Amino acid sequence: MCGIVAYVGSRNAQPILLDALSRLEYRGYDSAGLAILNGHGVEVRKKSGRIENLAKACQAKPISGSMGISHTRWATHGAPTDSNAHPHLDASGKLALVHNGVIENFLELKEKLSKAGHTFQSDTDTEVLAHCLGDAYAKSQAKGEARLLEAVRQTFNQIHGTMGIAVIHSDLPGLVVGARRGSPLVIGVGQGENFLASDTQALAPYTNRVVILKDLEIVALHADRFDVSSPLGSNTQIKVEEIENGMIHSDKGSHPHFMLKEIMEQPRSIENAFRGRLDRDGGTTKLGGLNMSADQLRQIQRISVLGCGTALHSGMVGKYLIEDLAKIPVETQHASEFRYGDSPVSRHTLFLAVSQSGETADTLGALREAQRRGYPCLGICNNVASSIARESDGGVYMHAGPEIGVAATKSFTSQVMVFALLGLLLGRHHQLSANHGAELLDAIVQLPEKIRQTLKHSDSVARVAKTYAHSRSMLFLGRLANFPIALEGALKMKEITYLHAEGYPSAELKHGVIAMIDKETPTVLIATQDGVYDKNLGSLQEIKARGGPVIAVAEEGDSKIQGLADAVLQVPKTHELLQPILNVIPLQLFSYHTAVALGRDVDKPRNLAKSVTVE
Ligand code: GLU
Repeated sequence: MCGIVAYVGSRNAQPILLDALSRLEYRGYDSAGLAILNGHGVEVRKKSGRIENLAKACQAKPISGSMGISHTRWATHGAPTDSNAHPHLDASGKLALVHNGVIENFLELKEKLSKAGHTFQSDTDTEVLAHCLGDAYAKSQAKGEARLLEAVRQTFNQIHGTMGIAVIHSDLPGLVVGARRGSPLVIGVGQGENFLASDTQALAPYTNRVVILKDLEIVALHADRFDVSSPLGSNTQIKVEEIENGMIHSDKGSHPHFMLKEIMEQPRSIENAFRGRLDRDGGTTKLGGLNMSADQLRQIQRISVLGCGTALHSGMVGKYLIEDLAKIPVETQHASEFRYGDSPVSRHTLFLAVSQSGETADTLGALREAQRRGYPCLGICNNVASSIARESDGGVYMHAGPEIGVAATKSFTSQVMVFALLGLLLGRHHQLSANHGAELLDAIVQLPEKIRQTLKHSDSVARVAKTYAHSRSMLFLGRLANFPIALEGALKMKEITYLHAEGYPSAELKHGVIAMIDKETPTVLIATQDGVYDKNLGSLQEIKARGGPVIAVAEEGDSKIQGLADAVLQVPKTHELLQPILNVIPLQLFSYHTAVALGRDVDKPRNLAKSVTVE
């Protein structure tokens, strides 16, 4: 996945690159590096670990120069070491490259280059790309800038895979070449200086004027101009857009971690998701960005939700909401599986692509595949103007605000809220009565207050977390719409505590997983008072009968559960369709407090990145 930033102008490049790069750390944080033209040649610094390690190395030995490229990495090929960090050089040492993506045929290319005498310093696919570029550059008859552009074009034809790249060459001072295939890249247009970055967030303090590069486009970037061309070399039309200044307030406030801050922000983020979108009189919602007529909404016969990780779990809750409210069958699919699978899709299917960042490579790929097959696709994203938001036919923004903690929390509940709003709208275009719609709307309006009430139990959740933090493994169980909540609870636990955790539908317990139950394996059972409450009590008894501790998510004042479970995480009662939104909150807190008790790096857990922009 990784983040790329390039700069060309008249200011000192090093501090600008480091600062802009730090805003892309959500894309990867296992190593970082930069290359600057210092007047004599390309000078490179790179370091494993966080960007702050690179910053320290740069402070100790600054590089002076007014153009350069930089990268924060999430390793796909080769361990996160200093030598595998980007930038990578070609054989001449004059060309430096940073890359976001995966070169699928790198082994084949490496073998060919090795036979021709090339030697490599790293295990990455990117270094092979750098050598291919250098080779093409050396063989090209073109002169100056055209030579590097031609080398990039030729190399594009040689490689299979995805790439967003920024390249500099010591023979071409004042020029940065950028190109994209699959991976995103934007130009930041400044005054006497220009930028290139993986997303607009990196550029927020420098410019709000951007050009979003289209797939396969190549840019030649100078301090005072830039030219964008197609793969065939013809100049393309440029549209400079002014974007809202998306500066992230990277302030944790009084909270020790972003994750806790974001959990605590949920009353507000949920309110932002529904604000201005409720129509109490019509018992429905208004979602202006769908770009679909009432007739088109009525024609939908099936919905297919595409997502990964937490976003997929929100889609699984969304399935229950839409099926209940609109009686439209919904299937959920791992975006990565849909992309390469052959599963038939019925006519009149609407696709929904869900991604907080709007840059998730698997989801973007699946969206493109659905569009290629001719289906309408809507995006449910948080980041405005992200790739999924731009490429889908319409969509609904979550308006959750920036989410910095790697473990998704408020974006999950906002996504579920968006599904509720969409379910209501679709329901009112199908069979749902205005009265039923209005009942749900009333509950939606009261939800922020109920979330506030849920959050007040944080300290007691922390006590339970401390008790069970050293467990060997944990099970999470729930039924129907609370099954995806169990999956989400288990995922949070794995992501930030590294404890083994599994989510199952409660009744699946007896079909195998019950063998895991013992006194060191607690089960978190979601057992709020819905239509399957008694069935959940049955599951609770089965676990207790085998000596397993039970932590129940239950409604405040449920004395029956209090008498049976070893610990209770309390939630207030709300409309049954919205209950999953409340039920997930104690699970977010539970994983958070467990991670704190175990001394984990809560906001930047190992091996992960916030936005998964490679396949
Ligand atoms: N495949 C490259 C690597 O492993 C780039 C990964 C990325 O996009 O961060 O270095």
